[in-house]
Amino acid sequence: MSSEEKFFEREKGILIVISGPSCAGKGTVCRIVRENRPEIRLSISETTRSPRNYEVPGKDYFFVTKEEFKQRIEQGKYLEYATVYDNYYGTPKDYVENLLEEGYDVILEIDIQGAAKVRENYKEGIYIFIAPPSMKELRRRIEMRGTESAEQMEMRLSCAYDEMTNADDYSYIVINQDKNVAAHQVESIITAEKCRTERLKNKVNDILGR
Ligand code: 5GP
Repeated sequence: MSSEEKFFEREKGILIVISGPSCAGKGTVCRIVRENRPEIRLSISETTRSPRNYEVPGKDYFFVTKEEFKQRIEQGKYLEYATVYDNYYGTPKDYVENLLEEGYDVILEIDIQGAAKVRENYKEGIYIFIAPPSMKELRRRIEMRGTESAEQMEMRLSCAYDEMTNADDYSYIVINQDKNVAAHQVESIITAEKCRTERLKNKVNDILGR
């Protein structure tokens, strides 16, 4: 490959996987990261859950029926999928893979089961766990959001304990006490990861012309 071709060769994007319990603030933190770093893309999942009144189809999720979801599993349309709180959630494979191929960094905001599946194929991804400052605060946030029935809230809270015990499977943990600080930490992690020697050693070879 000539040095000119090398110059124009695009680096593949990096997959950034963000997990954490319900109401730990993953969505808010990802939104702030996106505002500050608009070049980063956010994958939009498909789900069989009903939309919340403030959610916009095609922006927050693509809302599909169970039948449609099952059909799409058969067709191999998901990079990963999982059943979370009795609903299906899945990451669209082609959309994410095309963006990575085009050189965009892509954030997946997915649960711990999905993250474990993604890790099997994307060891070089960045895995970040967002935790609440306390379980008491998590309960307060779930109750404040008020979008779930009492029973669903209890289910989310008990799942939160299990999810928290998986935090050490992730390379980074961000405690979301303050959303702006947490978003800044996520951005810093991404910036540092992009400078890792493994990612840049080919660049040094390019600079040296070898
Ligand atoms: P919620 O119903 O609160 O929007 O999301 C419930 C859980 O599903 C959250 O932990 C969220 O990160 C996760 N989730 C959202 N999209 C996906 C996805 O595509 N795959 C997986 N595995 N989990 C997802």
